[in-house]
Amino acid sequence: MITLLLATRNRHKVRELRQLLHGFPVRFLTLDQFSGFPPVREDGKTFRSNAVKKAVVISRKTILPVLAEDSGLEVRALGGRPGIRSARFAGSDQDDRKNNAKLLKLLGSTPASRRQARYVCWMALAVGGRVVRAFQGRCAGSIAFQPRGRAGFGYDPLFIPAGYKKTMAQLGIRLKHRISHRARAAARLKRWLLKTGLSGCPAD
Ligand code: IMP
Repeated sequence: MITLLLATRNRHKVRELRQLLHGFPVRFLTLDQFSGFPPVREDGKTFRSNAVKKAVVISRKTILPVLAEDSGLEVRALGGRPGIRSARFAGSDQDDRKNNAKLLKLLGSTPASRRQARYVCWMALAVGGRVVRAFQGRCAGSIAFQPRGRAGFGYDPLFIPAGYKKTMAQLGIRLKHRISHRARAAARLKRWLLKTGLSGCPAD
């Protein structure tokens, strides 16, 4: 069993990551279980650099291996926005409803054929202030004309995965965990941990 410190305070991400690694010999601790970790400014230009920065900075303060995750939505008709600004697209208070409303407003009457989008997730693993490995996952789809469904979080009520007619929030969490950007990055993380015999991380 290895213990990873998850470098995020986003409860939705923590829940999904725990579910995605359920049954795997990994135990998660989260930043909320500790005090004294510095806030890390996500000032990188890419999801990858933000994930790496979070993992590296937090891992300088602990002997635990640290897993950080940066993710978001890229909409082609908006030149890739909201991208790394996904969490605070509509303002500094990270409000999913406002973010979705802003996205719909910007897309306006853009036809379905030009509403392509993708979710992107980068996970970075760092030990002792050095990045060990980073893992990417993507999920292609398009943006609906109105929010539908209640599962998931963030842009899920607007995101229709490629090959489906319903939004991620309508399709539900079981399907999300088969096809999402986070599920794909987590699958790569698990494959790597198995391949290295978990030797990249100190065991308990
Ligand atoms: P971060 O915490 O800076 O990585 O921001 C992630 C943001 O991207 C979230 O607040 C959501 O707005 C969006 N996002 C990331 N992953 C998902 C997902 O699985 N579903 C819906 N929105 C997501």
